[in-house]
Amino acid sequence: MVMGFLRWIVALCMCVSACGAQTVGGSATFPVIALHADSPTSIDVGSHVAYLQDESRQLNATQALADGLPWMPVARSSPNFGFTNNAYWFRLYLDNQTGKPLVRYIELPRPFLDDVRLLQVVDGRILNRYALGDEQPFPQRTVQHHHFVMPLTLEPGRNAVYLRVASTGTVEAPLRIWQPAAFYEASDQEHLLAGAVFGMLVVMIVYNLFVYFSTRDINYLYYISFVASYLVFWSTLSGYAFAYVWPSAIRWNSIAVPFSIASACLSACLFADNFLKLRRYAPRTHRVMKAMGWVSLGLMLGTAVLPYALVIRVTSAFILVVSVAALSIGYWRWWRGARYARFYCLSWTSVFVGVSVLTVSKFGWLPAGFWVDNASQIGVLMLVVLLSLTLADRINTDRSLRINAQAAALEHARKARASQHALIQATENANRELEASVQTRTNELNTTLDQLRLANEQLQRLSQTDSLTQVGNRAFFDQSLVTEHKRASRLKQPLALLLLDIDHFKTINDTYGHPAGDACLKALADYMRRKVQRAGDLLARYGGEEFVVLLINSTLGDALDLAEEFRADIAALEIPIDGLTLRVTASIGVASAIPDMHFTPSQFVGDADKALYEAKHGGRNCVRAAAPRLRPNAAAEVTEA
Ligand code: GH3
Ligand code: MG
Ligand code: MG
Repeated sequence: MVMGFLRWIVALCMCVSACGAQTVGGSATFPVIALHADSPTSIDVGSHVAYLQDESRQLNATQALADGLPWMPVARSSPNFGFTNNAYWFRLYLDNQTGKPLVRYIELPRPFLDDVRLLQVVDGRILNRYALGDEQPFPQRTVQHHHFVMPLTLEPGRNAVYLRVASTGTVEAPLRIWQPAAFYEASDQEHLLAGAVFGMLVVMIVYNLFVYFSTRDINYLYYISFVASYLVFWSTLSGYAFAYVWPSAIRWNSIAVPFSIASACLSACLFADNFLKLRRYAPRTHRVMKAMGWVSLGLMLGTAVLPYALVIRVTSAFILVVSVAALSIGYWRWWRGARYARFYCLSWTSVFVGVSVLTVSKFGWLPAGFWVDNASQIGVLMLVVLLSLTLADRINTDRSLRINAQAAALEHARKARASQHALIQATENANRELEASVQTRTNELNTTLDQLRLANEQLQRLSQTDSLTQVGNRAFFDQSLVTEHKRASRLKQPLALLLLDIDHFKTINDTYGHPAGDACLKALADYMRRKVQRAGDLLARYGGEEFVVLLINSTLGDALDLAEEFRADIAALEIPIDGLTLRVTASIGVASAIPDMHFTPSQFVGDADKALYEAKHGGRNCVRAAAPRLRPNAAAEVTEA
């Protein structure tokens, strides 16, 4: 489509050089086309034609046939005046040298011309006339062909053919003279080619429509819209649409070309914008593309209301702008790293190559031929095919990106799992270390506690032990007495107490020194410790040189017996000090009772103390029992020293 339009532009350029190329005119200077038995079956009239410019468009047949008009030769290979408001008259001379009437077709292969009129003039008489053009319903044509075809029966001798062409679009008149049979043969070939192009475009549309329904990628719709626009443009311009699709829709047929150009512009803008992801990667360019899209839409609507002459010029110029923009933005995106823009650029480039070939050929720099003549058409068909490939390529690229992204996501997930695992492992290790550390600390604590307990026990033992004699101290005795007192009271068992005081101990200190006194105390304690072995009985240093013995479940008799044994043994005890042997005696007070709530521990001790006092007053080295609460007669002497 781009192509088609560009072809129009090229035509416009051509016309500039065509017009005014020569300024002299006159029938004698124009060659006559001779027709005889050996003439070719088709002849391009080419530049063998004179033209007359009718700016007023008012010239009628009689006026045109008059002499003295400024007919001019056509400088180029065929008449082409581009966009123009003028009417043009063309004149050619055919010399029928066969000597008999000769039937020839004159073909004007530009079906978009609005008004085409033909006059066959022989000897100043109009023998035949045709009124054609795309403003006449197709069925009225003499030859039902998509091009304008005018059969002429040429008289022997010179026949003048006048052709008037007026159009709001471009004015071209590449006339060709045909032998009828050759014309139909060539037409068949042309139909075949056109059918192939038509079929290909329809296949691309249908195929990509299926792809769209499968992928839901909006680019396919834009692409389809573009191809459909081109299909309408091409089939209208070639005349096939008017011949086969809308033979009576004259109004639509006249605007179908600018309408399809504008819709191709819109499709191209949308496609380029979406395909090249301009909104995301090039917001400013995206806005430009969007604006061009709106302009295209405006032009589409404008074809219905604006003058054709204006709208065909604007749309034709605008598709050039859109094409250049689509191509340059494509290359720019590719250069910026969008790999999927490769095929896109290739597609649009093929169109430009096609147009360039066409342009060059129009200037006569390339030999005419099938490929050169159809370069623009081929360019567009390549665009259609390559754009389809472009879409497929992008789907492929996007899929690769998606797969790579999925792989990356999986890798991240794997790393995350590994990290999580490592974290769990580290936590477990830390917990284990913590447990081990707690265990160590607990062990240390237990050890410390054990040591502390031992220390406490030792401390308690020390606090209850007299340091000099290593027997229980006064505190130990007081505590034990309370305990045993309660137990005996509960069990109703007798409890006995011996209070022992060394006689005249002060004298020993005074005589032998304090250490000697200590040694005596230790010797006595050792002796008594050996004697007090029964479980539950206890021995303590009551103070100074006094000792106390508590006897569990012991009657007064038993206690007196033991006290006496103590007294006797102590008196017999020899205590070696500094080479001397010391002897001491002791007085013992004994108390015994089955304790009850009326008889307190201190009363118990008091009784024993009284008995001791008795023993001292009784002369010392003796035992006295002081048990007034057990025996109403108070103390009774048991043993005399
Ligand atoms: P009595 O026969 O009346 O008991 O006369 P005594 O001298 O034994 O009595 P007194 O209470 O007058 O003297 C007790 C002495 O015991 C006085 C004190 O110096 C001595 N003494 C007290 N504790 C210790 C001690 O731990 N070591 C030594 N060496 N002497 C002590
Ligand atoms: Mg004393
Ligand atoms: Mg004493």
